[in-house]
Parts: sequence; C-alpha cells; structure tokens
Amino acid sequence: MQSPFGSGQIVSGTNDLAFTDPLTGLGNLRRFFDKVDRLIVERAEDPAPFAVGIIDLDGFKPINDLFGRKAGDNILQQVAMRLSASMDQHSSVARVGADEFAFLYPMVFSEDVAREQALMLIEILSAPYDVGDRTARLSASVGCSLFYSGEENTETLVSKAETALYHAKRSGRGRVVVYTREMEEAAKRMTRIEQALRRAVAAGEVEPHFQPIVDLRRKQVIGFEALARWTDRDLGAVRPDVFIPIAEERGIIGPLSQLLLRKATETARNWPDELFLSFNLSPSQLVDQNTGRDILDILDRTGFDPRRLEIEITETGLMSDPASAEKIVHDLRAVGIRVSLDDFGTGQSSLGRLREFHFDKLKIDRAFVSSILEDRPSEHIIRAILAMCEGLGMDVVAEGIEHEEQASRLVQFGCGGGQGYLFGKPRDAEGTMNYLRETYRAMATWQDA
Ligand code: C2E
Ligand code: CA
Ligand code: CA
Repeated sequence: MQSPFGSGQIVSGTNDLAFTDPLTGLGNLRRFFDKVDRLIVERAEDPAPFAVGIIDLDGFKPINDLFGRKAGDNILQQVAMRLSASMDQHSSVARVGADEFAFLYPMVFSEDVAREQALMLIEILSAPYDVGDRTARLSASVGCSLFYSGEENTETLVSKAETALYHAKRSGRGRVVVYTREMEEAAKRMTRIEQALRRAVAAGEVEPHFQPIVDLRRKQVIGFEALARWTDRDLGAVRPDVFIPIAEERGIIGPLSQLLLRKATETARNWPDELFLSFNLSPSQLVDQNTGRDILDILDRTGFDPRRLEIEITETGLMSDPASAEKIVHDLRAVGIRVSLDDFGTGQSSLGRLREFHFDKLKIDRAFVSSILEDRPSEHIIRAILAMCEGLGMDVVAEGIEHEEQASRLVQFGCGGGQGYLFGKPRDAEGTMNYLRETYRAMATWQDA
C-alpha cells in the first residue's frame, strides 16, 4: 500500500500559501485535514487502519514570555524541523495551532506502534533548544487516535485525538495517550453531568454544607468551611471532586460559586459573630477578573461582614496567571477578607510563592496528617511547615484529622487549628445550627461550672 501524499516538506504550487504555515513552512490545519480526508477515501475499500496524533508543547507560553516572541518563533521553527526530519516517506506533520502540531502515520496499524512513534517524537522534542547563547527545554504531550472503519470522518478522528490529548495533559507532562472507547464513555458522562449541573445551578439546587474548623488547644469551634453538595434527580449524589472540575472546564464555576457563596453567607450570618466562614475558590476563578467584584457584590447583598470571610485558594490557582491572582487577592484583602493557602504540600508547590504572596493561613493537606503517626517523613514535614508558618506569621489548620492521637500529636508540635471528621463532618445549614446550639450549650455549662 503506497500513500500518494508526500512527507511534511513544502510542496510548491499555486494554491500552496493557503495550505502552508508561514512561520515553519509545514502544512497548516487545512492541509492536514485535506490529507486525512484523502486517506480516508483511499482506505474506504481497505481494512488497514492508520494513525493521527496531536502534539502539544508543554509550557511553551512561559518560554515565550521569558525569552521573547522572536525566540519563541525560533523555537517553533526548530520544533518543526525536528518533527519533519523524523517523518518517513509516508508520514507527514503539520502545524495546526500556535504550539500544536499534528501528524499522520498512514503506515501505523496499531495502537502500540502509534504510542511508540509518539514517544519517540516527545523524546526528540525534549532535547535542549538553542536560543542565542542560552538554551531552553520543552516537553510535549501527544494524543493519538486510529482510523479503523469507513464510518468515521476526519473531524471525529481528530476530535478523538484531541480527547486523548486532553487526557495526556491531565495526567502530567510528556505523556502519550491513545484514544479508547472508555474515554468516549467518560466524555459522555461528563457532558451528562455538565448539562444536569447547568440546570441545577439555574434552579439553585446546589447546597453548601459546613464543616467545623477548631482551635486544637482550646477544643473550640472557630469557623466552618463551606463544601458544595449536589444531588441530582437522575444522577443521584454527585461528589464535588467530580462536578467541581467539570464546572471549571465547562465554564459553570462562576455562577455555581456565586450561588454557593450567596447561600453560605445567608446561613453564616445567623451564626455567632466570632465564627468565620471559609469558602473555596477554584483556580480558574483566579484568572477571571470579575471574581473579586462578584464576591463583594454578594457580601453587599447578603450583608455578611467581609472580615468574617476567608477564601481558600490552592497553589495551582496561583500558577497559571500569578499577576491576575495577585490582583484578585489584593482586592479581597483590602476589604478585610482573609486568604488561606489550601491543600499545602501536594500541588506543584513553590516556596517562592509564599514570599511573593501574603497568606493569612495555611492548610496542611490531609495526606500528611493521615500518616503523621506512622510515618517519620510526614512528621518532619509537618514540623517544618509549622516552623515556617510561625516565621511568616501565618495561622495553620491541619486538615483531615480523624483520630484523637493525631490531634494531640499536632498540638504537641504547636499546630493551632484543625479540621476533620474527629470534630465533625460537613452538615447542612440546619444540622450546623443544631451542632452550634449543642456546642454553645456545652460551653455555657462548662463556663458556669
Ligand atoms: P478541600 O477544599 O480540600 O476540602 C476538604 C475535603 O476533605 C472535603 O471533601 C471534606 O469533606 C474532606 N474531609 C474533611 N475532613 C476529612 C477527614 O477527616 N477525612 C477525610 N477522609 N476527608 C475529610 P469534599 O467535600 O468531598 O470536597 C472535595 C473537594 O472539592 C474540596 O477539597 C474542594 O477542592 C472541592 N470543593 C468542594 N466544595 C467546593 C466549592 O464550593 N467551591 C470550590 N471551588 N471547590 C469546592
Ligand atoms: Ca478547602
Ligand atoms: Ca484542603
């Protein structure tokens, strides 16, 4: 079987400009689609599969920012050269986006070979690039899909490769993922959840529950973290670690978060004044400059004192656009809202962030707390975090405390705040009110005695 199409080199012809990427000289998206279209026609009578893939450069944008646009262009040219040099006479490569390339392997008949070939491309792209007298490094992620039957068209084939690429990027850098049926099922399920969630948000059906945060030494509740809960009519209870990421990806997080903050502050304003409300913000909200204003509007409307509000953000939230995050954080702090760094110790942490940003509080991730009794490294890490917080003047809350011994060990190390099933699971508004009544009644009896 011979492919009638050439390799990734420039082919001259009158129509060529419309099919060529001017920066790299590779074919562009149109040429790529055209080639795949023609190969599909050619394979109509032929059972042999073929492979397509999309290569996405990881972290190209920071390099572009760091070295400048011209250097960025130069790196893209080097990437294009490496890719086209690695194609054989049947295969071809095109530039299909700013930092995205696509390849077509007419003679690759299996997923294993597609994966092997893609890994080789990643390897080739990961060698250092010359940028003047400096060098830069890049990694790449690849999503592949195979054409098997006459039913498919170019769009569906490429969109499968995109789905696979999405999974590759999600699982870390420098990965290859080949599209499978299960991904399609997962994608369908995500879409079902997305649609149900849109409806639920519009109908105001997502509720905040509240989990106590305590002063470990005085064994006293000092505030609550709001945690989203949603039970759909058809899907049943959907967990927040499932629907929150979908809300983020599909652009529902803004309205969802506003609904939750409104409900949470309406509940929390009935609590004793000394109790704070801690509210989670998603990473994508720190890229959106409306976030700060939306929060202040809601506080205005519900009459909740901003000084009783804490916002929890993660390191991931600070990474994608630090300048934007900093502005939002600055605006919130200006009205007295406190800011906590959530899940500390699990993300792509950079201690440098703690120097650039001022946080009022740090929450030590459950992963360390759950192993504090068995595991020496966890103990050392917690002690180091506590020493650092003390030096930087930050409060600390240890998350996920389930056993009395964990709590006493943390107190012994000097940890002031705690949260976890030991002190209470998240409860709805009414359950929280009952919890407070009991707690305060117990305190009154204790103080009277
Ligand atoms: P998170 O912010 O780290 O919240 C703490 C999670 O740990 C909650 O899970 C809580 O129920 C759970 N947890 C608390 N104590 C314990 C314990 O002692 N043991 C164990 N095993 N787990 C404990 P949940 O409610 O399922 O929420 C999961 C994640 O979803 C949250 O992690 C947060 O990242 C996200 N999330 C929840 N609600 C919201 C929200 O309103 N907005 C945003 N942006 N994210 C939310
Ligand atoms: Ca949190
Ligand atoms: Ca957390």
